[in-house]
Amino acid sequence: MKREKYKRVLLKLSGEALAGDAGYGIDTDVLEVIANEIKSMREAGVEVCIVVGGGNIFRGVKGATKGMDRASADYMGMLATVLNCIALQDALERKKVNTRVQSAIEMRAIAEPYIRRKAIRHLEKGRVVIFAAGVGSPYFTTDTTAALRAMEMNCNVLIKGTSVDGIYTADPKLDKTATRFDEITYMDVLQRGLKVMDTTAITLCMDNKLPIIVFNLRETGTMLKVVQGDHVGTLVHKTN
Ligand code: UDP
Repeated sequence: MKREKYKRVLLKLSGEALAGDAGYGIDTDVLEVIANEIKSMREAGVEVCIVVGGGNIFRGVKGATKGMDRASADYMGMLATVLNCIALQDALERKKVNTRVQSAIEMRAIAEPYIRRKAIRHLEKGRVVIFAAGVGSPYFTTDTTAALRAMEMNCNVLIKGTSVDGIYTADPKLDKTATRFDEITYMDVLQRGLKVMDTTAITLCMDNKLPIIVFNLRETGTMLKVVQGDHVGTLVHKTN
């Protein structure tokens, strides 16, 4: 069964996704693979914007548990996302994909400041827009940033690449009896406490009826299939 074909998408990449098997830092081979996947979406005419996390470098909550002031630690986390964004921009530009990085924390020497209307214009011109530094405020996550920017950019869907092929009843790497959902409601995700995205992000998507598709980032060709409406990954939406 075919799903919808999407014209404008927001891709959420966690920091871990860029780290590959090492679990930390940036794996340039993984970056290459992801850049190819993004390029294939552009070649199919899909408008693409991206929110990149920073968990492969620094996570605010972790810093806070070690005695750091939470807000200071979160600012470090936001700066970590900027490193990832520049690495992704570099990988894409080497493949001749036009990009712009827009940062929620101004740093004009390396990125444009986040300006909603300008970002939309970039998308219309076929440029991939990469959003850096989260929403620019502590106590938020890049999942929530992804939901917010997807809404601001009028995206048709939020796609989230992970290391498994969708949402499961339990972590399939730990529980062999876990089964995959083909589709699921936002409310179900919240009530079952499924670790798809944080609750703020899910709620924001639910309130604004923005569909989410969770898919396997490690399977070549899947990203394009997702945006072309093929039945892959798990669709989170309003009704079953
Ligand atoms: N962060 C923040 N505000 C934001 C987005 C991110 O303070 O709007 C900080 C927060 O400390 C977070 C870190 O940046 O832990 C890295 O982002 P996240 O954990 O969302 O990255 P991911 O899990 O996607 O790799």
